Amino acid sequence: MTADPDCIFCKIVSKQIPANLVYQDEHVTAFRDLNPQAPTHVLLVPNQHIANTETLEPEHDAIVGAVLRTARSIARSAGVGDSGYRLVINTGRDANNTVAHLHVHLLGGRAMSWPPG
Ligand code: AMP
Ligand code: ZN
Repeated sequence: MTADPDCIFCKIVSKQIPANLVYQDEHVTAFRDLNPQAPTHVLLVPNQHIANTETLEPEHDAIVGAVLRTARSIARSAGVGDSGYRLVINTGRDANNTVAHLHVHLLGGRAMSWPPG
């Protein structure tokens, strides 16, 4: 499993630093965002270090699919499967991406506007 020793989300995956874990298996880790923007705000990451969508390769297709299916499953467990939820992936400066380990934001539990600011 590839990890970046300086990456905060790799350290959460390997439990070197604590997080409020929601789910973990051999491919995917999910934990609550430190600064929640909705009643449900969970981050889902591949356990292996992938910087962002710009560095995705065909070999990552299965893990990306697993992340999305896990998001669906967590949304249902959190009770927002029927009311709805938003999955967000930020990449780069204009999207305000701050952590360089691919992650999906699962946001739910309140109505959200579109387009985002
Ligand atoms: P992004 O702007 O998509 O890169 O979002 C990074 C997200 O990671 C932000 O919503 C932060 O609140 C969140 N975050 C940063 N450090 C931690 C941490 N140690 N545990 C949980 N969430 C974090
Ligand atoms: Zn990482």
